[in-house]
Amino acid sequence: GIMIVNKDYFGSYSSFGIHKEMISDKVRTDAYRQAIVGNPSLLKGAVVLDVGCGTGILSLFAAQAGASIVNAVEASDKMASVASQISKDNCLLQNQASNGGTKPGSGVIKVINSMVEDLIESRQIQPHSVDVLVSEWMGYCLLYESMLSSVLVARDHWLKPGGAILPDTATMFVAGFGKGATSIPFWENVYGFNMSSIGKELVADAAHIPIVDVVDGNNLVTNTALLQAFDLVTMKPDEVDFTASVQLELKSSNSIEVEPTISKCYGVVLWFETSFTSRFCKEAPTVLSTSPYTPPTHWSQTLLTFCEPISLTSKMLTTKSSSTVGSEVNPAVKIETRISIARGVEHRSIDISLEVTTI
Ligand code: SAH
Repeated sequence: GIMIVNKDYFGSYSSFGIHKEMISDKVRTDAYRQAIVGNPSLLKGAVVLDVGCGTGILSLFAAQAGASIVNAVEASDKMASVASQISKDNCLLQNQASNGGTKPGSGVIKVINSMVEDLIESRQIQPHSVDVLVSEWMGYCLLYESMLSSVLVARDHWLKPGGAILPDTATMFVAGFGKGATSIPFWENVYGFNMSSIGKELVADAAHIPIVDVVDGNNLVTNTALLQAFDLVTMKPDEVDFTASVQLELKSSNSIEVEPTISKCYGVVLWFETSFTSRFCKEAPTVLSTSPYTPPTHWSQTLLTFCEPISLTSKMLTTKSSSTVGSEVNPAVKIETRISIARGVEHRSIDISLEVTTI
């Protein structure tokens, strides 16, 4: 999935550009391909449900991996018809016989143009008949779009007891970022001129808006903390909304610290990982990471900027004379951040709240 700033959510998904962007994201698409095609013992003969098939790419992988039936559900009319055409062009579309049965030798993909939630009544898919549920539901900051809720609805109605969900875990991480992740350095020296007032203004303005951007791991100044872990097999639908607290302290450098370190933390970066663990993917467990320490994806990372930067000192500094602190006011050893993420009132938006205290 991807963030769509558009009221007409399913209409916006008809834009092929978005699908091109998702498919071109090799980190994303290769992870799904490996998890599906690389685990033939899971997929062979399986009944599959693809929640939000888009172009049908994941359904095509599932058919390739030997699934017996792939129910490809897509809410956008345009994309559902495109997915049918593509399945047909690749000789993978199921031909419905007049009695509703399957002609021998026909393809396995069945495209269903519906919101997955609206399928419950129709009984087009038998309850608890699905062996493998696959979906690419992740949005910016993992939860933007709240498509995870739709996946959980599908899980609860169609997955067989013990059935597989791909991916089966999702984990959110947080770390503090330094000046290098802001636009301050850019504006400090523009053809030799000091335009830093722009950088300062931009950082101040960012304080109340999450920013989606690529952050390099080198620009993180703290350790990485696990914010929230979801187990898609067991989580309850209301667990999509959560509050969690983490402590962050200066990243330990490998060099022996002769001089105590002090670094400004401008805010926190959020990112996620989804995993296709060995619970279901025995042959080829796979991790899809959107970390600043791994190659960038179309999700980038999400930055939450503090109202003002916080000076962090290495642990060592506190044991030393405080005179080394210089002009910095109350440099903290740790920051504690409390982050809440909840589905917004407006469909598919999310509300993020961030509280920061120094310790
Ligand atoms: N599976 C494709 C597309 C992922 S984008 C791929 O991996 O490339 C998510 C898709 O899910 C979009 O096409 C969107 O229209 C669809 N979608 C989102 N919520 C849905 C819902 N509740 N029911 C059916 N389709 C949904």
